[in-house]
Amino acid sequence: MRPSEATNYYFNQAADQLELPDWMRKLLVMPKREMTVQVAYERDDGRIDTVLGYRVQHDNARGPMKGGLRYHPAVDLDEVRSLAALMTWKTAVVDLPYGGAKGGIGIDPRTLSKRELERITRAFVDQIHEIVGPDSDIPAPDMGTNHEVMAWFRNQWEKYHGFNPAVITGKPVEEYGSRGREEATGRGVGTLAVKMLKRLNRKPEQTTVAIQGFGNVGSHAAKYLTEAAFPIVAVSDVSGAYFNPKGLNIPEVLSYTLKNKGSLEGYQGAQRLDADALLELDVQLLIPAALGDVINHNNVDRIRAGLIIEGANGPIDPEADTKLKERGVIILPDILANAGGVTVSYFEWAQNRQHYRWTLDRVRQELDRTLSEAFESVWQESVSRKVSLRTAAFILAIQRVKRASELAGWMV
Ligand code: GLU
Repeated sequence: MRPSEATNYYFNQAADQLELPDWMRKLLVMPKREMTVQVAYERDDGRIDTVLGYRVQHDNARGPMKGGLRYHPAVDLDEVRSLAALMTWKTAVVDLPYGGAKGGIGIDPRTLSKRELERITRAFVDQIHEIVGPDSDIPAPDMGTNHEVMAWFRNQWEKYHGFNPAVITGKPVEEYGSRGREEATGRGVGTLAVKMLKRLNRKPEQTTVAIQGFGNVGSHAAKYLTEAAFPIVAVSDVSGAYFNPKGLNIPEVLSYTLKNKGSLEGYQGAQRLDADALLELDVQLLIPAALGDVINHNNVDRIRAGLIIEGANGPIDPEADTKLKERGVIILPDILANAGGVTVSYFEWAQNRQHYRWTLDRVRQELDRTLSEAFESVWQESVSRKVSLRTAAFILAIQRVKRASELAGWMV
């Protein structure tokens, strides 16, 4: 199943509950605009390389479209299309005044120098600058991009349109970024884990955790969960999985990766396993926080965790999702679980537009409040309709987008 088919499958499960007519489903699923552009840039050795770049704008019924930019070799139009739709449902679940979009380039940023990344980013902006803007479509970081890429993007966009830092979020704090944006997605995952355990009457101390991916999301989630007393027994990145049944020393792991260019490679305080083995460990809580489609028909029967929190976008394919549900596994879906990032992006955009800066405490407080409200609504919806948390989250999101579309007029 292609990524966009998987996203639409989840959409349709909720649309069935809401008994939406076909014409409405078609209108809600089809993206408003898909842009594919040629991105030509100069390599450090003087050669010219040419790749495709994408921006998919899915829906704007609830506000300007919002969503990250992904630099990864697997990026293609279908993946971006799927991720753009997820952004529409994500911003609606947490009730931010946004629609959804996503962009990306099919490159491996680890094989490019910093100057090459800068040139490719500026070349991409040259191609898409007319369709993005603070009132229309606001990009942000995603896999393979970071605050530096956001700073280049903003600078290049402003060459055409003038000063307006609200055109992009996830910027460096010194360059109109928000305090707390970098930690926000991982912190949100942690915050929601704590809320979910409370609801289930379970104790963090007795909930072992494995986290797949130790990038921005996984590492900040690990930090938050350790501070909340969860034993984290395994973490992984492309170099492998690192397992200690007694619990990893997360502060030590974090300082190790800081000194090791962000990588876990060579970490000695744990047993080293194959990266994929992490997903199949006998833990209570599994957090996939890396790529999409990592739990699928190949490995679903070997997944042993009873709780899964989707730090990544689209980590579980529909076939695996159905099997896990039948086995009683509780899954907190991506459109809620990793919404902390876009929530603080919204705070950053709001600060930029007011020329005012919030304290870190305020950012964290408002993030906690936003996610708590969304979590409670999704939980109630799931209980009252007897549906999974994923279907409940989609139901709430679809109802909000549908309402906005009805108020504004469907065909605007
Ligand atoms: N890329 C992140 C996501 O998938 C953040 C998007 C944003 O901040 O706009 O939610």
